[in-house]
Amino acid sequence: MVTKVAENIVKSLEQIRQDIDAIAEHSDFNESVRLLAVSKKHPADAIRTAYDAGQREFAENYVQEGVDKIQQLKALDVTWHFIGPLQSNKTKLVAEHFDWVQSIEREKIARRLNEQRPDALPPLNVLLQVNIDNDPNKSGVQKKDVYALAEFVSQCSHLKLRGIMTILEADTDENQQLNSFAAMRALYEQLQQMHPSVDTLSMGMSGDMRQAIHAGANMVRIGSAIFGQRE
Ligand SMILES: *Cc1c(COP(=O)(O)O)cnc(C)c1O
Repeated sequence: MVTKVAENIVKSLEQIRQDIDAIAEHSDFNESVRLLAVSKKHPADAIRTAYDAGQREFAENYVQEGVDKIQQLKALDVTWHFIGPLQSNKTKLVAEHFDWVQSIEREKIARRLNEQRPDALPPLNVLLQVNIDNDPNKSGVQKKDVYALAEFVSQCSHLKLRGIMTILEADTDENQQLNSFAAMRALYEQLQQMHPSVDTLSMGMSGDMRQAIHAGANMVRIGSAIFGQRE
């Protein structure tokens, strides 16, 4: 791949890691924050570059694009996360190829993934996508319905409930972001009381990473700040 592009990825990755550590150090939560590199719309070569710089967890939004890259990079020790909208006709591919799914918002999708997860693979790690602001235009399960969905997933032997994820509106102000992220943290801690397997609170992207870590995220999903703008 073009050396300049590769150089930028390595430099950005290093910068993001430093930023995460610096922000986490000043948060009230004594937890390490995992960096998930969101590689949608970027080629397998870009992933390989980040991998060579030590990154191991990557996320994709589109099923076929993700599966293509997973197959191209089979030789690498990557943990793959699916974070995009998931229709029922695509669950089989996700169950067969990914390690995590962060965008579960319906029982029907969870049931299909559980049925389609191959016996030879470990349980598929699951995060429930929460519509924390109850915005009717946004995807995700509403807060009041999270407990029932978590209970359902926890009963599925081929799924492992690991926590919750959210995406905030891009143009909300900083106070609103902090409030929403704090509501996620509270929900996360409640779920943890009920389900000991819960250990992941995935929130924060390139634009709102700082606020998310301040409010207690322990996984951030960063795309453009590592790989550059998408087409
Ligand atoms: C694209 C995407 C990201 C990364 O967004 P950036 O702004 O590029 O960091 C994170 N999470 C989800 C669910 C996404 O779709």
